[in-house]
Amino acid sequence: MKRELMDILRCPKCKGVLELEVSLEEEEIEEGTLFCDSCKRKYPVEKGIPDMLV
Ligand SMILES: [Zn+2]
Repeated sequence: MKRELMDILRCPKCKGVLELEVSLEEEEIEEGTLFCDSCKRKYPVEKGIPDMLV
């Protein structure tokens, strides 16, 4: 996923702002974790795809 995607991504559960912790970044973010500060959910980013399923 592109880093710019963080500007539009919101928590699908509560619409809160997500924070990103990157564990592998090449041209794009390959692996990491998205955190929702509001509801404390975590969403993994695997192979460049954010898994936003609730
Ligand atoms: Zn949330």
